[in-house]
Amino acid sequence: MIVVKFGGTSVGDAEAIERAADIVKGRLARQPAVVVSALGGATNSLLAIGEQSAKGHLIGALRGVETLRDRHFEQCEKLLGTSSEASDVAGEMSATFDELASLAEALSILGHATPRSFDAIAAFGEQLSSHLVAAFFKVRGIPAEHIDARDVFITDNNFMSAEPQTDAIADNARDVVQPLIQDGKVPVMAGFIGRTTGGITTTLGRGGSDYSASLLGAALHADAIEIWTDVDGMLTADPRVVKGSKLIEQIRFDEASELATFGAKVLHPNTIAPAVRLGIPVFIYNSRNPDGKGTRITFDAPRRAVSAIAGKGGITLVKVGAAKMLFARGFLRRVFEIFEKNGVSVDVVATSEVSVSVTVDDPSGLESLVVDLSSLGDVSVERDRAIVAVVGAAISEDSGAMGRAISALDGIKVHMMSLSATGINLTIIVEGDQLNPALDRLHNAFFGKAKK
Ligand code: ADP
Ligand code: ASP
Ligand code: MG
Repeated sequence: MIVVKFGGTSVGDAEAIERAADIVKGRLARQPAVVVSALGGATNSLLAIGEQSAKGHLIGALRGVETLRDRHFEQCEKLLGTSSEASDVAGEMSATFDELASLAEALSILGHATPRSFDAIAAFGEQLSSHLVAAFFKVRGIPAEHIDARDVFITDNNFMSAEPQTDAIADNARDVVQPLIQDGKVPVMAGFIGRTTGGITTTLGRGGSDYSASLLGAALHADAIEIWTDVDGMLTADPRVVKGSKLIEQIRFDEASELATFGAKVLHPNTIAPAVRLGIPVFIYNSRNPDGKGTRITFDAPRRAVSAIAGKGGITLVKVGAAKMLFARGFLRRVFEIFEKNGVSVDVVATSEVSVSVTVDDPSGLESLVVDLSSLGDVSVERDRAIVAVVGAAISEDSGAMGRAISALDGIKVHMMSLSATGINLTIIVEGDQLNPALDRLHNAFFGKAKK
């Protein structure tokens, strides 16, 4: 069997859902299980409704609910028309939007929303899209069966970024999904959402539908996991930032994972781990160009010095230094214990004899961290930094590549640099506003200038 995941733009409107149906129809012999995102942009709208409600702006929130309701009903009408599926789905959608409006009212009375409430609200997007897609697939003659993803994806209660419980997911996939596939059905379910063992709705974090797809693929020992999106595959850089970025036809799991972690949004950073464990190939395809080659992610792609470049902004750099720690034993241990105690996770680290520099993705909780670190030495915090990652399986063996990366950044202030222990990722910290110029220059250096 295979897992076929469609992202937001690939189910964004009736035309996109029709293309998705054609893609699935062409794969019926491979026993697909389908995972879908919310209609493109719906999650942002839902979270905005949550925020407005919590601020007491109920009218704005309810207008947001109505806009989303209209959008879904318009696409539903186009897709299902007067078919027998239409009234079931319309009834289901109507009840869902009523529930959303009640939740908005409740939050506006409370004047406050917790991560748990945001998950309850965000989850509506995938619930709606998965019902609509499953119903349309049936109309198109696909033997689709909707499954409530929350019956499969059990997580912890770390709302808005819940940790999946892989054993429970494997059991549920065997009990709930596998029998349908064996029966010749095509299960269709929401990505992104799950529930705790206590039954509370959770989400896997933004972009988490990719992760749902790979968790399901691993649980069912799939032959392949296909991620259908709005670009031709994994490219040498984000095409929205760098003109002339090129398709990578094959890339290794570890390279793809580094790229996703350091900003290549085409894959959620956690997508690779479940696939790697079982060696399941992950493919990325463009739903608007279904005959394209796409990208194949496996263990055995060619080893290149540089495969691609990624980057992300909004990074905070924390530096701890003091002459008194010169040669002090246990200093690094103490630094990282303080990060752990404060629940601040660390991305990139560089050390010297007298200082340690660390990047932090999420600056919440930094105040108490700084107070604790001050007991070890001088602490400085630099906000609005960006990380640029140059990723390639053989980068550390290619001295020319390192030199080229550094000279490409001539004139751009570099705050920190680190080569990962695996030797496949050179990360460079620059000022926030230098992110795009740095990506552009590095891309030019390794992949040539964009053709005008
Ligand atoms: P989906 O809704 O299908 O999950 P996303 O918006 O999450 O789609 O991811 C696709 C987007 O990822 C692309 O439109 C592109 O702008 C961005 N992206 C960033 N880096 C890369 C890269 N290296 N290769 C391809 N796309 C990338
Ligand atoms: N709909 C969710 C989001 O926008 C999950 C996803 O699309 O992967 O973050
Ligand atoms: Mg995505």
